[in-house]
Amino acid sequence: MLQINVAELKRRPGELVYFNLSSELPPLEHLGEKNVFTGPVMVKVAVFNGDGLFQVEGNITGNLKFNCNRCLELFDYSFTAPMVETYYPAVQGKAGTGEEAVPFNGDVIDLAPEVRRSILISLPMKVVCRQECLGLCRQCGVNLNKNVCRCADRENSYSRLAGLKDLLKNNRGQ
Ligand SMILES: [Zn+2]
Ligand SMILES: [Zn+2]
Repeated sequence: MLQINVAELKRRPGELVYFNLSSELPPLEHLGEKNVFTGPVMVKVAVFNGDGLFQVEGNITGNLKFNCNRCLELFDYSFTAPMVETYYPAVQGKAGTGEEAVPFNGDVIDLAPEVRRSILISLPMKVVCRQECLGLCRQCGVNLNKNVCRCADRENSYSRLAGLKDLLKNNRGQ
């Protein structure tokens, strides 16, 4: 559970409390794909009581299963996402502060929705297994990280032959 109890902190404006949480989370949906978490998500935050507004700041780390955008292999993607949120106690009949603050009821703040959102925001558009991933050959489709194909060779020898043909033509023309 990614919940923090702020009952104590509520009584002490101007104070800061640290929380170290970890929890399993259901799959994340990113650009139409479902990504499963491998292992628990760790959330380390400092919560500051700024006159009834609870400022949560820290970071989120974990691993997600992703298909590499280049080679399509499934791999564990390690992420670190910053988390910055402000929560305020919901008062019945009173509207929100108008800012992006999130209301909570009672003494417990459930960080899970904002944790998920923070992870999503931190993910790149194209997730690759590693920066040097060679991807798939555009001609034969082999995974160039694991196999060597001759497509590039063949292209080179074709152009070498073409060059040779030109040379011969020129020679004959003389
Ligand atoms: Zn890859
Ligand atoms: Zn190839």
